[in-house]
Amino acid sequence: MADVDVHLFDRGRIEADVNFVLDGSTVATASNPNPDLRYEEFLVWNLVIDHPEGTVLWDTGSHPDAGDGYWPAPLYEAFAHVDAADHDLADDLGAAGYGIEDIDAVVMSHLHLDHAGGLYHFAGTDTPIYVHEREIEFAYRSGKTDTGSVAYFPPDFDRELNWEVVSGDHQLYEDFRLLHLPGHTPGLLGAQLDRGDDTLLVVGDEAYWQENYQGHSMAASLLWDNQAWRASLDRLHQLEREHDADVLLGHDMAMLDQFGDGW
Ligand SMILES: [Zn+2]
Repeated sequence: MADVDVHLFDRGRIEADVNFVLDGSTVATASNPNPDLRYEEFLVWNLVIDHPEGTVLWDTGSHPDAGDGYWPAPLYEAFAHVDAADHDLADDLGAAGYGIEDIDAVVMSHLHLDHAGGLYHFAGTDTPIYVHEREIEFAYRSGKTDTGSVAYFPPDFDRELNWEVVSGDHQLYEDFRLLHLPGHTPGLLGAQLDRGDDTLLVVGDEAYWQENYQGHSMAASLLWDNQAWRASLDRLHQLEREHDADVLLGHDMAMLDQFGDGW
């Protein structure tokens, strides 16, 4: 049995309209043609996973200059990472006693700009950066052509990085399996971590909020493929039932209470 510990790092808050996350949550009706919109806070986190075979960084958060002109203005208008400047990756890791040099491998759940913004810390190093093949293809296509998705920002990932490209699921270490969960993006990765009788499912942006995990889809702008998303969700539900797993969601504030002291 792998003696694994998972530490959750609070990397700040994105503020956005809830309609992005819960498709059609606020709609005009005949009796209420001008309903109030909901504008709420979303948690940005990353993980450090201490495993006997290596110390893994799971995602890197947003670039600290996100609100300072680094993110394209229309993107920041829609998804305002209001405190990115207070959450430099190296500082946040350092506060918990980790240095960038302690990281043996990075796993990128996907390459959206609230996850890939700290990759620059690994530029020019030989630290392996795990990514799914369909994710890196789609990120480059999105970043370098006018097709794909606007949520990929090449300055985050178009760097001298030691990419380790995986296809399908991938057994990273003992009791630490990467799961290909297409839907939110083509190459989204989650994970299953086993520790004796305990199992953690890293669901990530497959479900931003608990409501998404229960089946309420995100809006089209956050869903590359709705049917693939449903299939990935079914698969996760099955794994959760099979292992009575704990479930770590992508941007739900409740994750702080649930996993803030680690897993
Ligand atoms: Zn995200």
